[in-house]
Amino acid sequence: MACALVRSALRRKPPLQPAGADRRRYSLRSGTLERAIAAFRSVSGDEGVSLGEAVREQHGRDESVHKCRPPDVVVFPRCVEEVSALAKICHQYQLPIIPFGTGTGLEGGVGALKGGVCFSLRNMDEVLDLHQEDFDVTVEPGVTRKALNSYLRGTGLWFPIDPGADASLCGMAATSASGTNAVRYGTMRENVLNLEVVLADGSVFHTAGRGRRPRKTSAGYNLTNLFVGSEGTLGILTKATLRLYGIPESMVSAVCSFPSVQAAVDSTVQILQTGVPIARIEFLDDVMIGACNRFNSLSYPVTPTLFLEFHGSSKSLEEQVSITEEITRENGGGDFAWAEDEEMRARLWKARHDAWYAAQALRPGCKAYSTDVCVPLSCLPQIIVETKEDLMRNHLTGPIAGHVGDGNFHCIMVLDPDDPDEVQRVHEFTERLARRALAMDGTCTGEHGVGLGKRTLLREELGPQAMEVMQRLKATLDPKNLMNPGKVL
Ligand SMILES: Cc1cc2nc3c(=O)[nH]c(=O)nc-3n(C[C@H](O)[C@H](O)[C@H](O)COP(=O)(O)OP(=O)(O)OC[C@H]3O[C@@H](n4cnc5c(N)ncnc54)[C@H](O)[C@@H]3O)c2cc1C
Repeated sequence: MACALVRSALRRKPPLQPAGADRRRYSLRSGTLERAIAAFRSVSGDEGVSLGEAVREQHGRDESVHKCRPPDVVVFPRCVEEVSALAKICHQYQLPIIPFGTGTGLEGGVGALKGGVCFSLRNMDEVLDLHQEDFDVTVEPGVTRKALNSYLRGTGLWFPIDPGADASLCGMAATSASGTNAVRYGTMRENVLNLEVVLADGSVFHTAGRGRRPRKTSAGYNLTNLFVGSEGTLGILTKATLRLYGIPESMVSAVCSFPSVQAAVDSTVQILQTGVPIARIEFLDDVMIGACNRFNSLSYPVTPTLFLEFHGSSKSLEEQVSITEEITRENGGGDFAWAEDEEMRARLWKARHDAWYAAQALRPGCKAYSTDVCVPLSCLPQIIVETKEDLMRNHLTGPIAGHVGDGNFHCIMVLDPDDPDEVQRVHEFTERLARRALAMDGTCTGEHGVGLGKRTLLREELGPQAMEVMQRLKATLDPKNLMNPGKVL
């Protein structure tokens, strides 16, 4: 229905005034925006276009500490034809386009640096084409991971990628998100089979070919993974075809305390080396576990801790658990605190997923900012120990939580955003940490993306040649630099 409306609206094109091809910025005074808004309304109706201050503010910010820059207007398309029609209008008037999922990003990706049009995709929230026997599903961009898993209830299938927040699946694809399950199930990169994309000029294409969903392919360049992690700078993702997994017969979770960071990380490496297909292995340092205890009324020992989860048949679980217990014991780990039934497991993982809020509660009234480096596994103990020393030396609050099975960890920096001295010290600390990771052959971001804050670090990480290739790709796909300008590159 919505799509038929778009077709008829496009037939009676509003009187658009072309902007000069070389103009990079648009001027509100020239009336450009007003004309574009009239055109948006002819596509999406009055209810699909918002100029309200609160709506614009809400769509110009995410969960990061980056300053909010609201867009000039927010549009709420209902189908890919509408997205395409709206993009064509932006292209004609040279208005920046900022895609918006659920705004849970941590690197300022949705801020409208140069003003422009926020495309909120929340009204496109249907699960399409579930193929149970093939373990795949296609979703619209507004479907969140929790909504997909609720939809799948009763099918015996689930989508395991879990960044904690209830993010949109296309937002997760756009940031190449992962989280606690990545050690077993991979990240968005390994789990997106195909994407429907609207480019800046409004053209629509499918990264792996329309309707295709093979489990593997060697056909041509990997366009799907060009768009996974592109953070809205190359196009708007309007559909994603995702891999699904069978819900394991049994799951069991445990918590284990260690005398030192080294002992916890050594256990992790040895567990992985023995081939235990661990589903989750999460590290919390002493400060983090103390904060979680306080926030969730728990009483785990305040020492470096691992949260673990095993998936499989009852028989395979027995074996996985016995090998893991032996390894942790040899490294001085304490007894496992078990959570077997669903309610207990949910309680245990809620404590881990609440780490962000538990950290914030350490200093009421302050804001949290999460660092996000990833290093080769063997470098983890050294980087965590050096980072804790750095935090103490600089009197900073930054409890550490990490997806250690992947070598990825976060310091959740809790800071007073109104204290310029502290803001500066945190900034310097995060740059030192990222450079420490780069010096160990790692990356400045394992899962949150580059967004606004890590553009310099990206250049250091990739080097000038790789950056130039990226710039050329961007210029080919978006020659007017309309897609989420000022981010990533
Ligand atoms: C408490 C908390 C814990 C978190 N833990 C993790 C974690 O463990 N692992 C992890 O990976 N992340 C984590 N995150 C970060 C966040 O959930 C992810 O970055 C998520 O993938 C963002 O999805 P979103 O829908 O909210 O995207 P948004 O925040 O709306 O957007 C993020 C970026 O993607 C772009 N974008 C969004 N939708 C589209 C689209 N359809 N097409 C093109 N571009 C688009 C935006 O322009 C922006 O650049 C956490 C966040 C919070 C608040």
